[in-house]
Amino acid sequence: MLPDFFAVEVIALFLAAAAGWYFARRSPSRPLTPPKPLNLEYFEGLNFVLNEESDKALEVFLRLVEVDDDTIETHFALGALYRRRGEVTLSIRVHENIIARPGLQTGHREHALFALGEDYFRAGLFDRAEELFKRLANGSGRSLGALRYLLRLYEQQGEWMDAIGAYERLKYLVSPEYPTAIAHYYCELAEQQRQAGNLAAAREWLHRVRAEQKHFPRSALLRADIALAEADAELAVRLCRRVVELHPHLLPLVLPRFMLALRATQSEAIASAFQAWLQAAPARRADIAYAAIVAGLETEPFVVECLRDFIRLDPNLGELVPALAGEPATLAVPQLTSLAGALGRIFRRTQRYRCVECGLGSATHFWQCPGCRSWDGLSPVARLEVVSRASNL
Ligand SMILES: [Zn+2]
Repeated sequence: MLPDFFAVEVIALFLAAAAGWYFARRSPSRPLTPPKPLNLEYFEGLNFVLNEESDKALEVFLRLVEVDDDTIETHFALGALYRRRGEVTLSIRVHENIIARPGLQTGHREHALFALGEDYFRAGLFDRAEELFKRLANGSGRSLGALRYLLRLYEQQGEWMDAIGAYERLKYLVSPEYPTAIAHYYCELAEQQRQAGNLAAAREWLHRVRAEQKHFPRSALLRADIALAEADAELAVRLCRRVVELHPHLLPLVLPRFMLALRATQSEAIASAFQAWLQAAPARRADIAYAAIVAGLETEPFVVECLRDFIRLDPNLGELVPALAGEPATLAVPQLTSLAGALGRIFRRTQRYRCVECGLGSATHFWQCPGCRSWDGLSPVARLEVVSRASNL
């Protein structure tokens, strides 16, 4: 059986280690000593590697090559290899073995502590990872990397106050990787307070967002939720309209709030503004129909008004529906309603968003990509593309 990629990498490590061992012994600074019986152990280790017995291979390797200045990079490479392979217990042992070496240089110690922190992070041992990265974030040569890991760790655990602290410290060192991240942290805190019914505290956090990002759509939607909770439907509608003007692709998030505001108020002005919206260009009506279907509002009466345009403007549905049911203009309301229901079921299980950073597809909108953790990375897939893919199911 041919060795897999991991085995090849470890064999390369063994060869590098053996070469280091050999040249270290040939070094003029050391007296020439008879070689140790290397071969048997060396081939024993190789045998374990080829049989995919990584833990036994590690035992041999650690016995074979002691940590010293000649071999330390080999140990780091071995540790990183085990972590990449997902064998975190073994990478932890390699890095602990390095740290245990007396008289380790500061740079090597920091490197080993950082690598051990990465192991803990990968293993989900967040308390231990946090402790190490906090130590390294304070004045070590690894402070930048440690702060980046702390930020990831706090985001992953939803510790938004700590995330804000780490973000502020990072900002002094480098340009932020995701400039809107801190505004999202404040929104997370605002959302927690809103859900707990502390609307004033929620508004306070949203004030902080304004200092970081102007016209931040997530903040405006949260403010609309607070306005709805305070029975201020006019304000909720103003906020919703502004979000759609600046970020049309968020229409599926805005529409349910708009409907709540519409139902909550007796205001003629809001009702007629909504009607004016529906009377706008066919492309706008098609967008509203799509957003309503995606948002689960397909049974709302206004969807029927917009659905005919949605079908007509879509190249696939525009052919499919007339062939199966008749011209959209002639379809009766019950037919349109059941068509909207069927489309809703298809759309909601179709990946309607895709991350521009990692390509992850999602049927749900997330402010932070669940794959690569980038903020605002999820973009809507073009509406027509969704229909095209859905029709091919
Ligand atoms: Zn992503």
